[in-house]
Amino acid sequence: MTDTASRRVRLIFTADGTTRLVAGSEGTVIHVDDRGTLHVLWDDGSTLGLLPHYDVWAELCARCGEVLVPGCCPTVDADGDPR
Ligand SMILES: [Zn+2]
Repeated sequence: MTDTASRRVRLIFTADGTTRLVAGSEGTVIHVDDRGTLHVLWDDGSTLGLLPHYDVWAELCARCGEVLVPGCCPTVDADGDPR
């Protein structure tokens, strides 16, 4: 089972020169494909995919909405599931 419904990410860098997304944009992960590409519904409504090794992003904590760091919210388990 993959739990992507609650995963939030913040864009740090994209190699895509055509997107209007800028660093700091945030979105919700809707799908991760078998190549590891994150398909993200960005908060501005666009759907740029994030490519491992090309794009850089940070996972956001499902509870506090800030960049996820180990132990930032003790009630969020390893899967990012709020309890
Ligand atoms: Zn947190």
